[in-house]
Amino acid sequence: MLSTLSATEVAFVIVAVMQAVLALVWLIGGWWAGDTRRASVHWAAYSAWGAFSFVMLMLAMRAADASPSATGFVQPLHAELLRAAGNVSGVFAIIELRRGIWVFLGRAPVAWFHPLVIATVLAVAWIGLDPAYGALRVGVNSMFLTWMTLDLARALYLHGRDAMRLRWPWLLVVPVLIASLAYALRGLRAVAEPAAVAAEMTTHSGLNVGAAISYVVLSLAFHATLMTLVVARLVSELFRLSQRDGLTGLLNRRAMEEALDAQWRRSRRSGEAFAVMMVDADHFKLINDRFGHAVGDLALKHVSALLHDHMRDVDRLARFGGEEFLVMLPGVTQAVALSVAERVRQHIATTPLVHAGPPIEMSISIGVAQWNGGAEDLSRLLIRADAALYQAKQNGRDRVALAEPAALAFGVA
Ligand code: GH3
Ligand code: MG
Ligand code: MG
Repeated sequence: MLSTLSATEVAFVIVAVMQAVLALVWLIGGWWAGDTRRASVHWAAYSAWGAFSFVMLMLAMRAADASPSATGFVQPLHAELLRAAGNVSGVFAIIELRRGIWVFLGRAPVAWFHPLVIATVLAVAWIGLDPAYGALRVGVNSMFLTWMTLDLARALYLHGRDAMRLRWPWLLVVPVLIASLAYALRGLRAVAEPAAVAAEMTTHSGLNVGAAISYVVLSLAFHATLMTLVVARLVSELFRLSQRDGLTGLLNRRAMEEALDAQWRRSRRSGEAFAVMMVDADHFKLINDRFGHAVGDLALKHVSALLHDHMRDVDRLARFGGEEFLVMLPGVTQAVALSVAERVRQHIATTPLVHAGPPIEMSISIGVAQWNGGAEDLSRLLIRADAALYQAKQNGRDRVALAEPAALAFGVA
């Protein structure tokens, strides 16, 4: 049977098979992707409707061919039904594509819009069964497809610009915009030359083969766009995880070292002051020993959250070790850093950890050091902050100590 297919039919079958394979890829990929599972299911449906659409269009061509000279009602109606099914499922495909993208972007779609499109498209499909109105169906479908893809392009552009921070966000929307343009041209032709459009859909013309090939290219570009979205999100999530401490969600030590290094370079250029606070929970081992490790973990989260309450946007807060935290305060002198440290200390000392058992009183000790400017490198600065913390512990804990000036600390070291 395949040997009897025309070039147009072969092109349509290839498009359909490709879409079916992509539907499977999104289903399997979605299963594995976790986060993007719901979006992937919509994109699988998008591909499946696309495949179905091309099968219908191809069968419509066959049905129309079966009796090219038939004047009876059955064959032409048969062909029109199949063609209508093909057109309608093409619109359903784009609706599923959009629904997937809304899910992916975490946006609620306008509730009435897609149902309205579906109802209208089905209505004109019904009316268009009369070949005299075939072009009406094409015109209305094209109008909706143009609008839906333009709207999609806008959403993707904003996502590329604001969330993905792409340098050229419009690159992300080129395939979608080309599709919009193609749909718009098709819609205009349906209005301007309805007879030609109706005839084109059934003929095995070079135009149909060309259209099928363009569709393959465009469709692959669509899928590449979707995969770009998924991969970009995955990469940024991995990057975020690589910077965070799993328990408290604060920056981890490596990320803090990078932030300190960047600040140090900035300050060396501009002379801007900055200070660090080395924070350590007091007698933390006792909490673990008395209440167990799980409550110890809660206590670490508790301290993290309270520390975080005192931070400005530009400050950086990291879990530096087991029950040790490091705060970096850009543009801050030691006098200011001391008062911040004192406020945090009091806050934690007066806010017991509430959990299933009796509330647990906690305290922290803090060593504060201001970058000494000039030649002081980061390791020196941290050594001074650490020495100050040690002093705070020595002096009885639950207190703040200021680091020795750099020259003295150098002398000690
Ligand atoms: P100090 O006041 O001198 O700082 O006494 P401390 O008990 O806080 O200090 P020490 O260094 O003796 O003990 C720290 C404890 O912190 C020991 C370790 O089991 C605990 N710890 C480190 N990381 C974690 C963690 O992720 N979860 C829990 N629950 N405990 C942790
Ligand atoms: Mg401790
Ligand atoms: Mg410690």
